[in-house]
Amino acid sequence: MMEIAKHQLYIGGQWVEPSTGEHAPDLDPATNRPIAEIAVGGAEDAKAAVEAARASFENPEWRTIDPSKRGRLLFQLGQLVRDRFDEIAKLESQDVGKPIREAKGDAAFVYKTLEYWAGMADKIQGETIPVPGARLNYTVLEPVGVTVHIAPWNYPLTLAVRGIAPALAAGNTVVVKPAAITPLTALKFAELAEKAGFPPGVVNVVTGPGSTVGKALATHPAVGSITFTGSLETGRQILEMAAKHVTPVTLELGGKNPNIVFPDADLDKALKGVVFAAFQNAGQMCWSGSRLLVHESIHADFVKKVAERAGKMKLGPGLKEDTQMGPVVSKEQEKSVLTYVDVGVGEGAKLVVGGKKVTDGELASGNFLTPAVFDAVTSDMRVAKEEIFGPVLAAMSFRTVDDLVDAANAVEYGLAAGVWTKDLKTAHGVATRLQAGMVSINEFPLTFPQTPFVGWKRSGLGHEQGLDAIRFYTRLKNVNVNLE
Ligand code: NAD
Repeated sequence: MMEIAKHQLYIGGQWVEPSTGEHAPDLDPATNRPIAEIAVGGAEDAKAAVEAARASFENPEWRTIDPSKRGRLLFQLGQLVRDRFDEIAKLESQDVGKPIREAKGDAAFVYKTLEYWAGMADKIQGETIPVPGARLNYTVLEPVGVTVHIAPWNYPLTLAVRGIAPALAAGNTVVVKPAAITPLTALKFAELAEKAGFPPGVVNVVTGPGSTVGKALATHPAVGSITFTGSLETGRQILEMAAKHVTPVTLELGGKNPNIVFPDADLDKALKGVVFAAFQNAGQMCWSGSRLLVHESIHADFVKKVAERAGKMKLGPGLKEDTQMGPVVSKEQEKSVLTYVDVGVGEGAKLVVGGKKVTDGELASGNFLTPAVFDAVTSDMRVAKEEIFGPVLAAMSFRTVDDLVDAANAVEYGLAAGVWTKDLKTAHGVATRLQAGMVSINEFPLTFPQTPFVGWKRSGLGHEQGLDAIRFYTRLKNVNVNLE
C-alpha cells in the first residue's frame, strides 16, 4: 500500500493536530481511493485560529509594516506558486478530479491574482473632502482585522485566493476554511505563505466540516469580515449567522447561466464555447453555461452538433493528459446529478445524449458520468431552473429577442451569461437586458483577476475581483480637523 500524507491544521504559524483528534480520508474522485488524511478541525480550532489571527493583526510586525513590503510578500508568494506550478496543478487535479489542463489554468489564476493585489498594497488610499470653514477633512481606508474565507470544492485554491490576496494587501490577517473534501491546495498555500515570509498568524488554515469549523468562524465576534463562496442554501445560513455580530459578508453563490446563440454567430466557435461552458470541470461551476438558448432557425442542427461533441468527450482521471472531462467530485454529487437526469426525463425533456454513470472498465470505481444534453426543455422545468452542478446541459429554443430575454431571466440566479452573435446591436442590446452580473460576448465563460466577479439576484451579495473589491477588505474612516 502506498504511504499517504497525514495533514495537520496551520494555526499561528504552527502545524498542529486538530482538537478532535480525528483525521478523515481525502478521496480521489477518479478511484474513490484515499490520497491523503485530513485533519478534522472543530469549533475549538476555528476559535484558536481567529485568536491567532487577531494577535498577529495587533502585532506591530504586521500592523505597522511598510505597505510596499506587504506587496513584496504577496509578490513573493505569487512567485512561489509559479515555482510550484506543476505540483499545485497536480494536487488540484487529483483532489477535484478536473483535467490537468484546467487545473493549470486555475494555478495560473492564483499567481496572477497574488501579483495583481501585490501591486495594490501601497495604493490603498483615501481622499480629502472640501468642507466649509477652516477645516481639513479626509478619509482613510483601514483594514478590517481578521478576515474569514470559506471556500467551495470546485475551484478550491483559486476561489480562496481571490479573497485572501486583497485581504492581505489591505493589511488584514486571514483564516481560511477550504471545503472538507478538497483541502490539499489550501494546505500547500499555507506552507508557501510561511516560506514567502508572512509573519506567524497572518495566514491560518483550518480544515474540517462547515457545520462545525465554518459555523464557529461565521459566528465569532472578533471576525472583521466573511468571504463565502458556495451554495445558495449555505450562503443564506452564513448571512443569518453573520447577523449576530453584524459582520460584513460577501457571498458568491450559485448560477443557472444562459448561453445564447444567434443564427449570425460564428457557429463553429459558438459550438466549441457552448460545450466548454457546459462541461468544463464536469459542469461543476457556478458560472457554467448550463442553459443553452438557441434561435429556432438553427436550433435542431446546433443542438445535434453539441450532443455529438459532448458524446465524443474523452472521460478519464484528471491527471491523464488526454482527459477532456474528469469525474464529479464525490459519490454524493454523482447521486445528486443522476437524480436530476431522472427529474428531467420525468418532466418530459428529451435526453439526447449521456446522463449515465460509467459502470464498466477502469473508470467504474470513480464518479464518472457521461456528459448529458437535454433538448425540448421549457422554462418551467426544474432542469431549467435549478443549479445541477454537474455535466448536464439544458437546451431551449427562442424566436424573438423578447422571448429570449424572458427565458434567460426566468431563474432566481443572475450570475453570468454568454451571447454569441456578430451583430453589435444585438450583442449590446441583449447584454443590457440580461439580469446577470457578468455578460460575455463571443466567448464564455471568462473572468480575470482584474475584472469584477459579481452575482445578481440569488447569485450573490457584493463582489470579488477587480480594484473595487478592496473596499470590502477595508473600513472607511472620516477624520475632521478644526484648524482654527
Ligand atoms: P457548500 O455551500 O456546500 O460549501 C461551501 C463551503 O461552506 C465549504 O467550505 C463548506 O464546508 C462550508 N459550509 C457548509 N456548511 C456551512 C455552515 N453551516 N456554516 C459555515 N460554513 C459552511 O458549497 P459547495 O458544495 O462546496 O460548492 C458548490 C456551490 O458553490 C455551488 O452552489 C456553486 O454554484 C457555488 N459556487 C459559487 C461560486 C461563485 O463565485 N458564485 C463559485 C464556485 C462555487
